[in-house]
Amino acid sequence: MTQTCIVVGAGHAAAQLAPSLRQEGWEGNILIISDEPYIPYHRPPLSKALLAGEKNLSEILIRPEAIYEKHNIHFRLSTRVESIQPTEKTIRLHDGEQLAYDKLALCTGSRVRKMPIGAGLAGVHYLRNIQDVEAIKADIHPHARAVIIGGGYIGLETAAVLKKLGLQVTVVEMMDRVLQRVAASEVSEFYTRVHAEEGVRIETGKVVGAIEADPQAQTAHELTPRVLTPRVQQVLCTDNTRYDADLVIIGVGVVPNTELAETAGLAVDNGIVVDELARTEDPHIVAAGDCTNHPNKLLGYRLRLESVPNATDQAKTAAASICGKQKPYCSLPWFWSDQYDMKLQIAGFNQGYDKVVLRGDNQTGRGFVAWYLRAGILLAADCVNRPKEFMLAKQLLSKNLPVTPEQLADESFELKSLLRS
Ligand code: FAD
Repeated sequence: MTQTCIVVGAGHAAAQLAPSLRQEGWEGNILIISDEPYIPYHRPPLSKALLAGEKNLSEILIRPEAIYEKHNIHFRLSTRVESIQPTEKTIRLHDGEQLAYDKLALCTGSRVRKMPIGAGLAGVHYLRNIQDVEAIKADIHPHARAVIIGGGYIGLETAAVLKKLGLQVTVVEMMDRVLQRVAASEVSEFYTRVHAEEGVRIETGKVVGAIEADPQAQTAHELTPRVLTPRVQQVLCTDNTRYDADLVIIGVGVVPNTELAETAGLAVDNGIVVDELARTEDPHIVAAGDCTNHPNKLLGYRLRLESVPNATDQAKTAAASICGKQKPYCSLPWFWSDQYDMKLQIAGFNQGYDKVVLRGDNQTGRGFVAWYLRAGILLAADCVNRPKEFMLAKQLLSKNLPVTPEQLADESFELKSLLRS
């Protein structure tokens, strides 16, 4: 009998897992089920080229449709998987239909963390999928006042794009500095300066308490135009500061989509718990991408990552596991962020750092490296417009090569020489 592998979700992990299954020798059916109406597309451009209008949907597809056809990979789009019955090896869809699987891959990703304020107001947005971008674009007008809640990477990337499009942009951040959760203060200072140079106002230490509507302005509801929705007017902070807003974008993090796994009785702990082979406790179910809590041998601990390279690499491992092969996932985490003319590339994971060393100047110009160390050991590097150092950092970290803080800081020291030794 022909076997069936069902993949839940059609993001970066699914787009890799399905063709990898064929490469690993899976001859059975492959069905990808997604609650979005599109075949897999690159998510990073949503806060970059797609929002800026520099690319359209067909230019951000991860693979052309023909590739899936060639590999006999089928889709059920706009379809939500509601539950898994692991004993029967079936899943139930939102319309009640049941489908049987032999192998199941959970590639459910993550969703935006919602704030308990601003719901239902026209002009208040989140940013996770193509529809979100389209809704934001409909609210973009030159000189409109945009307030972005959250000074993480997505908030700052969005700020950069909106500024380029001619809006007045304010970023409101609860912590003392932007990027506080993910980067050193030297990196935060750098981005705060650059955004100020570009004309973006960054307000830190501001806790948003309410998003208020304009009693005069109402917008026709997009689905039922006769229903008028109140429009956003101001963002109000708990210290009574107010920011006028024609549009608000909330970027306060994501939560992993683990409910399917949880209700199926699988272990969940800030992500679906998998081993280095992307296997859950159920021998017929694997998981990959943003939704997993997985071990990383290079780092020596378990973690959950929100990055494209993680989703892609882990999906390859998951595909191999489905086919009975062992290809442990053991990649160095890396990530990138584009803002204005700056490409930030991050190698490694800076958790637990006790020292930061700079190569180059974060106070002037637009390129430098922040190296993160713990007990003298290199953990990670944030490389702004420094692709050469990024490549070297990846190698130093992957090979665990010794390097001193002085060598990292010294622009005249050839880091490449460490690879040769
Ligand atoms: P996702 O891409 O989230 O895909 C999961 C899919 O599963 C979604 O379509 C979801 O709707 C669907 N789904 C979930 N549950 C169900 C269900 N029950 N039934 C059916 N379908 C379901 N990463 C980087 O490395 N670099 C960047 O510069 C970068 N920029 C980003 C910018 C933005 C605006 C966003 C939103 C993310 C960015 N990321 C970036 C993060 C990156 O996009 C994610 O890490 C990546 O998308 C994870 O892929 P995934 O396949 O695990 O999950």
